[in-house]
Amino acid sequence: MTQGLTEETIFALASGKGRAGVAVVRVSGPACVAVSLALTGQSVPVARTAVVRRLHDPDDASPAGLIDQALILWMPGPDSFTGEDVLELHIHGGTSVLEALLNSLSKIDGCRHAEPGEFTRRAFEHGKMDLTEAEGLNDLILAETISQRQQSLQQMQGSLSRLYDGWRRRLIEIVAHVEIGIDFSDEDVPDDLLDEARGKTADVSREIDSHLRDASRGQLIREGFSIAIVGHPNVGKSSLLNALAQDDVAIVSHVEGTTRDSLSIRMDLGGFAVTIYDTAGIRVTEDDVEREGVRRARARAENANLRLYIYDASQPASLDLNEVEKMSLSANEGQLGGVGKGFEATLLIANKADLLCAALRGDDGSALPYRRLYVSARSGEGLAELKTELTQVVAEALASSDAPALTRARHRSALEDCRESLVRFETSTATDPALLAEDLRMAVRALGRITGRVDVEDMLDVVFSQFCIGK
Ligand code: GDP
Repeated sequence: MTQGLTEETIFALASGKGRAGVAVVRVSGPACVAVSLALTGQSVPVARTAVVRRLHDPDDASPAGLIDQALILWMPGPDSFTGEDVLELHIHGGTSVLEALLNSLSKIDGCRHAEPGEFTRRAFEHGKMDLTEAEGLNDLILAETISQRQQSLQQMQGSLSRLYDGWRRRLIEIVAHVEIGIDFSDEDVPDDLLDEARGKTADVSREIDSHLRDASRGQLIREGFSIAIVGHPNVGKSSLLNALAQDDVAIVSHVEGTTRDSLSIRMDLGGFAVTIYDTAGIRVTEDDVEREGVRRARARAENANLRLYIYDASQPASLDLNEVEKMSLSANEGQLGGVGKGFEATLLIANKADLLCAALRGDDGSALPYRRLYVSARSGEGLAELKTELTQVVAEALASSDAPALTRARHRSALEDCRESLVRFETSTATDPALLAEDLRMAVRALGRITGRVDVEDMLDVVFSQFCIGK
């Protein structure tokens, strides 16, 4: 715990910015009682009971110094969000009211405006939540879709903490067993003890591996499933993106990509966040800038979880199956191969269907290696079917399972470090207990980094005390 931090009292607007019926300003730290006295002329109200009080500028007792009439909540630590004394001031959500209040607060001794994330950081430092729970809370605030909300809520409530701490605790017990070897034998760790320890770490390793294999699901729910629209120039890629973007309430936002070749929209498909990218038309070109665009389009397509390969139905030559094949192959060789399981990672979109009468559509496409849909970005024909299809693909790829999913690259990298240390322990030919225990400790530390519990020694004390060592 950082002593310096908790001596300061911090405050900030906790609700959204802009005009609103109510704005909530949160104050956390030892000066809460002083804040109440300075602003209301009275000490804090009864804990966890809402009271209405007038707030005054502490330097201006005249009527002009009246800031607002506010609802006040007093939540003394440690039973508060941050674990410290917390005062919540529910004011009217006008910009002038807010400014006057923040100004007044900054005049009070020991009070300063909070840094981003500082309330949650204090909650972490006071043991109110661990790092994965804090990350879950942040994700919950950012959640745009049902699946993101459900996943982040579970994480905030400790689903990942329980999983990672469970593994960590099991490994710590194994360290303890191996270290008994140090205490009771002057030489090597006895073989039977080592075999038993390795059997137990192998169980943990298997569980971590299976969690890592399922990794993309959680990350995709959080970051969004990506769909790339690819195809030759003028087949209607932008038109399709626009048609999807204009479609009903599904749109969450319309963002312009950082590169000139990539426009994207974010949609909510069946409760899942999806980003659909338009890409530069793919064709052989001498123009350097365009070539770069084509290169990026291919990369975007290969990295996407699903490709919509669009061609002009009235010009069947614009469908280049070899190219589709190449793109899909490179995509499946990539890291997203696992996510692609169970659904087609490429769909063919025959656009401009309005230019064709039904008779000209030829076969039903069943001989094609990919599923094909006829649409018209212009008339809207087939768009509803396309959306249904996309929703099914996404839902199938991200459908929830009971096991909590890995949600962040940070967690993945720590889990991989943990696995490496376990492999070293499991395959080491060393017999020196200190060396063997060190690999295990590194594995424990890697897991501890995820939840923010890095105090291996403290845990060992707890575990060792149950072993009655040194009796
Ligand atoms: P992109 O280069 O692949 O992005 O293609 P655009 O979306 O810019 O479209 C190229 C041309 O095709 C434009 O003139 C569009 O109006 C036209 N177009 C796009 N979709 C359709 C469609 O479904 N039917 C018809 N008839 N024309 C379309």
